[in-house]
Amino acid sequence: MSRPEWVRDRVYIGGSWVPPHGETYEVENPATEQVAGTVRTATPADAAAAIDAAKRASAGWASTTPQFRSDLLHALSAALRERVELLVETLVAEVGTPVQLARSSQVGQALAVLDSYAELLPAFAFEEQVLHTRVLREPAGVVGAITPWNYPLYQLMAKVAPALAAGCTVVAKPAELTPLSAFVVADAAEAIGLPPGVFNLVPGPGSEVGELLSTHPGVDVVSFTGSVRVGRHVASMASTTVKRVCLELGGKSASIVLPDAAIEHAVSATVSNVMVNSGQTCAAWTRLLVPYSELDTALATAEAVAHKHVVGDPREIDTDLGPVISAAQRGSVLDYIDGALADGADLVAGGTERPDGLETGHYVRPTVLTGLSPQSRIAQEEVFGPVLVVLPYSDIDEAVTLANATSYGLAGAVWGSDAQAFAVARRLRTGRVDVNGADWNPSAPFGGYKQSGNGRELGRWGIDEFLEVKAVQMPVSNGSP
Ligand code: NAD
Repeated sequence: MSRPEWVRDRVYIGGSWVPPHGETYEVENPATEQVAGTVRTATPADAAAAIDAAKRASAGWASTTPQFRSDLLHALSAALRERVELLVETLVAEVGTPVQLARSSQVGQALAVLDSYAELLPAFAFEEQVLHTRVLREPAGVVGAITPWNYPLYQLMAKVAPALAAGCTVVAKPAELTPLSAFVVADAAEAIGLPPGVFNLVPGPGSEVGELLSTHPGVDVVSFTGSVRVGRHVASMASTTVKRVCLELGGKSASIVLPDAAIEHAVSATVSNVMVNSGQTCAAWTRLLVPYSELDTALATAEAVAHKHVVGDPREIDTDLGPVISAAQRGSVLDYIDGALADGADLVAGGTERPDGLETGHYVRPTVLTGLSPQSRIAQEEVFGPVLVVLPYSDIDEAVTLANATSYGLAGAVWGSDAQAFAVARRLRTGRVDVNGADWNPSAPFGGYKQSGNGRELGRWGIDEFLEVKAVQMPVSNGSP
């Protein structure tokens, strides 16, 4: 434990750091298997106190102007920027993300989302006129934000920034494995004088604190990012109070290389995409679909690119892949690989051996498999590790059918001429499609079709998640309202 900010025995409720009543546990550094920090957890009673604080703050915050909230989001961004080095180090230590990626993706994208809301807010249309009706879009109230461990700061910001922008107050529960970065957000909220109760932080077990947020009548919206299994459970628990539930769940996204694509570039970009954050990315393109005629070239390229990825200490600037998050996650990823090999898959790269020279840490080799049925377990389920499955197709209709043939619908990629790729993108049942490696856009909606979820984060769609719509009918006099 090299930083005092990684020892946390208080939680943030109503603008104060208060001692919670749960146990203290150790956060593991997945690269060293040593203790990265300690956190004392909230109990359901602490979480209820946080909900009360959020409720008390709700009317005051909802009555602020969009410009006022925008100014505070800018201030929050500035306060987090003052803490960038701490955030990067924290995310390297708690997630195991390589330092370059932690800076650009874990921290950079979180700040980009926060800034996008600060900028969007002053011009956001909270009211509109529809004939004689004034339509008001009002804050939904108290938001329970439940987040996973793979991009903990980004996922928190993708909920907190739009919720605060909408005029809602927030009770946040980070994942048990990666709670430390969320504390830095609370530090920043305190430093800028965010009004007490507008942002509250209650780390704790999902089965206790997460369940309380999902069932408590004082929570108006639960915004959940995580697995399908827990998302279903949250939705069913929340139904007793008929609160709104926004689910951002898993994915099994396809990268479709069309016959006219630059095959080596497309394959290379797909392999690299899967390996980002050691494959622990919900939108990762974990299935590569290539024409039969290009299969050999695709496999040769994928093998070469996988071998080039440097696995190792996430603090090193040259490292491409750090460890996966935990021993359990590593075991699960290796089980998927073993199962696929037992089913007759061909190993193109990687496998279940430890990467050379890495005897400690939850490391997995960048792995590429082929020779599998599209219906096989590893081609259908989310592995959440550095594993790519290559599947051949005979024509574009079959490629589209295969791409759509999982229970997920989060993201995807298409490579080829822009026009043809766009036509294929239209046919995919997913919430996002990247054509020819186009850049990420923090103001574009993100979310899933099918079992990848029912919500949309980012941009103006992200604010909508946290707004109620009220129609005020005005009497028509002299022909006008
Ligand atoms: P998880 O579902 O195990 O946990 C997510 C959160 O839910 C954690 O904070 C956890 O404590 C909490 N939780 C656990 N049990 C709960 C319960 N009974 N009631 C309420 N809350 C509970 O997911 P994870 O393992 O942390 O994250 C990985 C998953 O997240 C993957 O499936 C991944 O695809 C998904 N994910 C989705 C997106 C997206 O935007 N669609 C983004 C990132 C990750």
